[in-house]
Amino acid sequence: MKLAVISDIHANLEALQTVLRAIDDLGVDRIWCAGDVVGYGPDPGPCIDLLRERGIETVCGNHDEAVVRGEPRDRMLPEALQVVQWTRTQLTPDQIDWLASLPPLRVLPWFELVHASLIPDPPWAYIIDEEGALYHFAYQDCPLVFNGHTHVPLAVLHRSGQRPRLSILQSMFLPRRHRCMIGVGSVGQPRDGDPRAAFVVYEPENCFLEVRRVAYDFARTQARILRKGLPELFARRLAIGR
Ligand code: ZN
Repeated sequence: MKLAVISDIHANLEALQTVLRAIDDLGVDRIWCAGDVVGYGPDPGPCIDLLRERGIETVCGNHDEAVVRGEPRDRMLPEALQVVQWTRTQLTPDQIDWLASLPPLRVLPWFELVHASLIPDPPWAYIIDEEGALYHFAYQDCPLVFNGHTHVPLAVLHRSGQRPRLSILQSMFLPRRHRCMIGVGSVGQPRDGDPRAAFVVYEPENCFLEVRRVAYDFARTQARILRKGLPELFARRLAIGR
C-alpha cells in the first residue's frame, strides 16, 4: 500500500495539478493534505474544488482558518493578510463552509495528520528546533505524525531518553523505537531553496518514506498572481523556493 501526504498548496493550482499527476503515476492508493489549501496564491476556489473532487481528506491550516474567521490567530505578514481578505471575496459560501469543516487533526490507522504540531497553545507553532520538538513530543503518543506549516521537508525524530533530532527530510525507513514527526514540505510555496513542489509517499508495511519533488510551471502561477493584483512578493519567491 502506498499513501501520499501533501501540504501547503496555497492556492497554487499549477503546482497542485502537477503533484496529483505525479502521485497518480506512482500508483498511490490514498492521498491526504496537511492544510493551508488557500492563502498567498491566485486560485483558492479551484484548489478547494480539486481536493473535494478527489476526496482528499484535509486538516485545517492557519491560512484556511484565517480565511474562515476573517482574521488570523497567529502573526502574519501584512501582504499575507491582504491575500486572506482577498481570498474571502473569491470563494463561494459552499467553499468557505468546506474550509470551516476541516478538522485540526485526523487520526488514521497508519499515522496522525496535523498542520503545525500537536501543541495546543500557542496555536500554529513552528517546530524548527530541539526545544519546540520536545514540547511537541510531550503531546505525541503515536509513532508517526505528518505535518506541514514550515514549507520545508523536515524529519523530527525522538527516542525516549534522548534529545530530539531535526534534519532535512531524506527518503528513509523510519527508525524503530522512535516517535517521528515528518514535515512533508509544500506543494505551492516551497521555502527550502528548491522551487519544485514537494510531497511524500509512505509505505506503511515496511515503514518506507520517500520524499518527492516535481517541477511545475511556476511562471504561470506568477503571472496569475500579478494579474489578480496580489503582492509581487508571493510571485517572486516561487522562482527561488524561499
Ligand atoms: Zn503554509
